[in-house]
Amino acid sequence: SDHALDYPKSPQNMDWDAHYPAFAGTGRTPEFADIGCGFGGLMIALAPLYPDVLMLGMEIRVQVSQYVQDRISALRTADNSHQNVSIVRANAMKFLPNFFPKSSLSALFFLFPDPHFKHRKHKARIISPTLLAEYAYVLRPGGIVYTITDVKDLHQWMKAHLEVFPLFEPVSEEALRAEGKGNIVDAVFRSTEEGQKVERNKGDKWLACFRRIEISRS
Ligand code: SAM
Repeated sequence: SDHALDYPKSPQNMDWDAHYPAFAGTGRTPEFADIGCGFGGLMIALAPLYPDVLMLGMEIRVQVSQYVQDRISALRTADNSHQNVSIVRANAMKFLPNFFPKSSLSALFFLFPDPHFKHRKHKARIISPTLLAEYAYVLRPGGIVYTITDVKDLHQWMKAHLEVFPLFEPVSEEALRAEGKGNIVDAVFRSTEEGQKVERNKGDKWLACFRRIEISRS
């Protein structure tokens, strides 16, 4: 249960300066959001590649989110790096627009999300029509949704829901690489703890990416 979690009333209530002290006073808000970030491998890998882009992980498990916070603090102390990364303990399926202003994100990551195999549990999946409306709201036009999983059924589910949602269009891995996002795609495949586990077990990885379109089509 998440009854103990606090949610900001609106994005203006988020104290981003406390999360990113090196950027205090700039008025910047996160641009990359890693939903269900786990142990934080993606952001740890991407932070030095995009030192001016603020990144936020969202993770529901207490100990795991604390671990990521400690990991970021240690990196900041060690060599002053990773000033642009932070984490909140939150249920990302609730009140996402309370954290991020409209059109503020350029990337949303769903990397190896929990599969919720049983049919009656499908409504607990992190990609659903209701949640897609929220993701479209916080993403800026041109922003990218990255999904990857080792569960083929979940891949097809996420892909199918994103394909029918009018505010997203599919974008191929090749197209992303051609526009300079190859380092992001590589990190999506390889930098997370779950992705590395899948690799050790020689499992398959299915990637599906979508772009937030410019205008709504009616
Ligand atoms: N993305 C990470 C990776 O690739 O290593 C973690 C993958 S792990 C299988 C899924 C993570 O999502 C878990 O850490 C879980 O606690 C988190 N999670 C599940 N539902 C969530 C929710 N509603 N809000 C935030 N985090 C959630």
